[in-house]
Amino acid sequence: MHTNYSSDVDVFFMTQAIQEAYKALKMKEIPIGAVIVNAHNIIAKNFNQCINKADPTAHAEIMVIRQAAKILNNYRLNSCSMYITAKPCIMCMGAITNARLKRVIFGSCNSKLIAYDSLLQLALKKQFNYCVNEIKLLQNNEISLLCSNLIKDFLITKRKRRVGVPIGFDGIINGEIAGRR
Ligand SMILES: [Zn+2]
Repeated sequence: MHTNYSSDVDVFFMTQAIQEAYKALKMKEIPIGAVIVNAHNIIAKNFNQCINKADPTAHAEIMVIRQAAKILNNYRLNSCSMYITAKPCIMCMGAITNARLKRVIFGSCNSKLIAYDSLLQLALKKQFNYCVNEIKLLQNNEISLLCSNLIKDFLITKRKRRVGVPIGFDGIINGEIAGRR
């Protein structure tokens, strides 16, 4: 099977994941969306819903993995690719590895997560004796910026609401650096 999608195809599917992230935003959730693609078709799409579902595991990635597995009636998703607007967290990387996803493309990257990358991949490989064929940041500046700004703007707005005063992303409140990303 031909596994190398052109970047136009990647951009198309990431755009669908972004649409999902907007749904999360509407529900006041951290705006992260994901889709799973099998044989060039989207078989699952969903978004982060932790607050509304009162479920700390309801990340977009977990939601779509559950949907896709149900649709394919298979707990392995070897033939599938996932597009996520943000880089997966440790919990989702575990789920992605368990699902044996072939390919994972993310839209934005929080630089703080880079440090554990190789360590995490090594740990996953050791535990599962398997690693995702390809996991990478989408190479499209416009889309990457859109994905990261979605989350950044959401966090700024949330912080403004909580504090009640407009602050910058690294603003100072009562002499302390405001919040953490
Ligand atoms: Zn996650």
